[in-house]
Amino acid sequence: MNKRKKLYLFMAIATILMIVAFAGSIIIWTELNTWIPFAVICPVFIILFVCTIVIYMNHVKFVCPKCNQIFKPSANTIIWAIHTPTRRRLRCPYCNTKSWCKEDF
Ligand SMILES: [Zn+2]
Repeated sequence: MNKRKKLYLFMAIATILMIVAFAGSIIIWTELNTWIPFAVICPVFIILFVCTIVIYMNHVKFVCPKCNQIFKPSANTIIWAIHTPTRRRLRCPYCNTKSWCKEDF
């Protein structure tokens, strides 16, 4: 299994765990009228969400389709860029063109 597949697998498992835990705590809150599981799950949800994003940003680089240079944009740029599952619309620091850059691990 290559690095990209491992990262995607980790992100998929983390996302599924977060959704199940979050939905479960809401169901417990509405059915049993106790908000304690929700209050416990919320910080765990936020920590796991931030960890997932940090791990992704530490491992990913992008390839410019115009000049084929590999670059690593800032976290803020990665988070707010329009994206598909494998590409982000970023400005290349080498040729200064904005294009759909492919992820590279
Ligand atoms: Zn470029």
